[in-house]
Order: sequence, then C-alpha cells, then structure tokens
Amino acid sequence: MNYCSHCGSSALSHKMPPGDNRLRIVCGDCGKVHYENPRIITGCLPLWDGKVLLCRRAIEPMLGFWNVPGGFLENGERVEDGAAREVREEARASVKILGVHTIFTLTGFHHVYVHFLGELVDGRFGVGEESSECRLFAEEEIPWEDMAFQSSIFTLKKYFEDRKEGAQRAHLGAW
Ligand SMILES: [Zn+2]
Repeated sequence: MNYCSHCGSSALSHKMPPGDNRLRIVCGDCGKVHYENPRIITGCLPLWDGKVLLCRRAIEPMLGFWNVPGGFLENGERVEDGAAREVREEARASVKILGVHTIFTLTGFHHVYVHFLGELVDGRFGVGEESSECRLFAEEEIPWEDMAFQSSIFTLKKYFEDRKEGAQRAHLGAW
C-alpha cells in the first residue's frame, strides 16, 4: 500500500495504535488504521462414483499443476456458496455440498483455505476458463507429484484416510 485509501495521503507508516498489540499501517494525515488480515480461499472436493474431481490450472501461480477447485471468497458470499461457485467456474459442474472437510492455514501467505466435500449432482463436468483439463481420479491415480498446493494435498490425504475408516469429519491443518 503506497497511498491511504481514505484520504490519498502518502504519509503511511507502521505504528502500534493505542490499545493494540501489533504494528499496523497508519496514515500520518488522517489517522486511519489500515488493518491487513488473512484472505479466505473456499473450495470443494467434488466426489463421483468413488472418484474425486481435480482441475489442472491454466493460470499462474502453479500453472499446469492439479488442484482442488477453489478460489477467493467474495464479499457478501457464504463460504459454502463460494465453494460451489468455484466448482461451477473451474469445472463447469454442479455440486451438492456435503460438509466442511478441511480448514488449512497457510501462515506465511496469510491465506486460510476452507475445503468442503461435495457430490456432483449428475456426474457431468467440463473445463472452466481457469482450467486446462478436469478429470475424475481414483485414489491410485492421484498425481501427488503434480499437485499445486499443500492445502489440496492435505484435503486429498484426509479424504482417503476418512473413507477407509468410514468417517466424515473436519480436519485442521497448517503449513
Ligand atoms: Zn489518510
């Protein structure tokens, strides 16, 4: 941030506001405190016929790598609706959200991933604009070496572990 979004001043510096316990970006002219907090990435692992649907990224970062469909939550959007929207956009598929599966904090990048499990409504899917390929994978077919993000690896591992135990629960992870 180079300019204050409140008054346009360039007199920004890191200061600890009264009563706070962290340095914040504070405008030296209007006094506005610009808080910076983690962003939420919402996604869904779509299930169908014993397989999971993954998308190959057609965009940076990690272009060409496989991923659980997901993206930034929009303002005013429920996190579960955002997950279903991302599946629609990236895989041209409709999912019924089954429940929260993983919450994964990427501490260094200030991102929090919320991944749901979902079931494809009719088994149909395509390839969205941000994907170069979408396909269903059985557990033994997962391209573990070509996964884009730790959050997706965590989500897949926990899904297959749970399935072996016949369990469905939410998992916390971090990297
Ligand atoms: Zn200002």
